[in-house]
Amino acid sequence: MSETTERRYDVVIIGSGAGGGTVAQELAALVRDGRRVVVLEKGPRLGDHEFTGQELEMAAALYADAGGFLTADGTMTLAFASAYGGSTVVYTGTSLTAPERVIRRWSVPGLDHADIVTRSEKFAAQNGVHLLEDSLINDNNRLFVEGGRKAGLRVEQFPVNVRGCRGSSLCNLGCPNQAKQGTNRVQLPRAEREGVEVVTRAEVVRIGVDRSLLVRVAGRPPGAKGGPAEWPPGEYRVRARIVVCAAGAIGTPALLLRSALPARLPRLGQAFTCHPALILVGEHARDITNDVGHPKSYFVDRAAEDGFVLETCMYFPFVTAKSLTGFGASHSATMRAFPRLQMILLLACDRAVPGNRVAVDRAGRPVVYYRFTPETLEALARGTRAAARICFAAGARRVHVPADPPLIEAGEADRLDARVAARHFLPGRVSISAAHLMGGCGMGGSAADSVTDAWGRVHGLPWLRVADASLFPDALEINPYLTIMALADRVAEGIRAEVREPVNA
Ligand SMILES: Cc1cc2nc3c(=O)[nH]c(=O)nc-3n(C[C@H](O)[C@H](O)[C@H](O)COP(=O)(O)OP(=O)(O)OC[C@H]3O[C@@H](n4cnc5c(N)ncnc54)[C@H](O)[C@@H]3O)c2cc1C
Ligand code: SF4
Repeated sequence: MSETTERRYDVVIIGSGAGGGTVAQELAALVRDGRRVVVLEKGPRLGDHEFTGQELEMAAALYADAGGFLTADGTMTLAFASAYGGSTVVYTGTSLTAPERVIRRWSVPGLDHADIVTRSEKFAAQNGVHLLEDSLINDNNRLFVEGGRKAGLRVEQFPVNVRGCRGSSLCNLGCPNQAKQGTNRVQLPRAEREGVEVVTRAEVVRIGVDRSLLVRVAGRPPGAKGGPAEWPPGEYRVRARIVVCAAGAIGTPALLLRSALPARLPRLGQAFTCHPALILVGEHARDITNDVGHPKSYFVDRAAEDGFVLETCMYFPFVTAKSLTGFGASHSATMRAFPRLQMILLLACDRAVPGNRVAVDRAGRPVVYYRFTPETLEALARGTRAAARICFAAGARRVHVPADPPLIEAGEADRLDARVAARHFLPGRVSISAAHLMGGCGMGGSAADSVTDAWGRVHGLPWLRVADASLFPDALEINPYLTIMALADRVAEGIRAEVREPVNA
């Protein structure tokens, strides 16, 4: 039997993404006071030169299951990363603050919108969030602005968190120019400079009742990207006063579910939401620049009125091909027109409903159960019609959308209501994916309605905290990373106050 090495820390943070990276930075002050803080991250730490922008190579290196993680019934792909910096390595960096109406609807006792705004502003400043200069706005974004305004929609520009963006449009494969300001570039390096330890290739398998973690540190597979783990490969028992779970909206509920925790948490894994998304394309007569410039500069927010958001986007041929509805002649014709495609990403604002949840299989691996409600399918149909209107108003000859048949010509633009209906969005027939994974350890008042309180303290287990997207009790209805950082900042504040007290445990 292999030997298990023991290590002791004051605080262990599991995961290094938007939540974990933030907590690491905000707890660096404790290290100055002589406390020991470590981040355990399952994914690898890539060197700057390893971000090549190659689609298949980077997807395999950065994404969980190479980007192919599916819901239990196979009807939706869930995209999330596993790396130093978590999903902030692959996010686009659009930086919005939580809407007031959503935080009010969450009605978490002790959580108010003004506090989230103040904390989000702190991280927006830290990450260099600003509106992009005109030279980085490409044709795809200009057409969206032009078409959206002609279609009578309110088009807004995304603030983004880039420094020295060169418009390579590769954000979702990890920025090869180190421009995007994820936790891998800002918060984690700061934390490490202050003495917080970060161990990569370190997977937390289980949390024990005695606050000890079973950790497996893996060796670097031959030929794989990323450096070796900071600890020698092997099994570790890590003991801590406080354990912070920031393994993401799938990783954290799964980890807690496979750990035998001495508390009754009936809501654990429940209320999973994800803004199910579709790529819609419009074919123009001329080539459109979309593979240069920043890919996501504008959006239309119809969440409050119609339950959807439209964003500009750029996807590579492989992802575009697998995302378009149908197959055969119309699919092939659309893909041949790739350089002339206008692209729009449609996100539906789904709701936490019973049954949509994260569970674990017998081996402790995460399984996500998700069913599309009639309301979500209606939102997808409404959003598709709006996206088609934008494309036609911008001059597209035809659009390729979930409809039967999927090609709609410009001459049919006034028949969109009849041509696109919720019945066309049959789960399994339409390629739906999601990258805003939320819920599973929602905040609330008690264990009957939630997993944690408004400060990420797990009900009944005050030494156990959650600090990631799993805290959301319901969908956020906008891009989530700044809100995750704001919530993680609250969690860190609570821990600082507690750990500075004399140790008597
Ligand atoms: C392609 C893409 C584009 C996006 N674009 C945007 C955007 O423009 N704007 C925006 O606001 N949001 C965007 N998002 C969403 C945003 O990136 C995420 O919501 C956010 O990063 C989630 O933060 P988190 O801390 O919950 O989890 P993550 O950032 O996913 O971090 C979780 C980390 O925990 C690690 N982990 C998991 N299990 C374990 C374990 N057992 N032991 C050790 N480590 C573990 C994982 O390896 C991972 O690194 C995007 C997401 C994707 C995938
Ligand atoms: S568009 Fe800008 S932020 Fe995105 S990958 Fe290229 S240089 Fe990086």
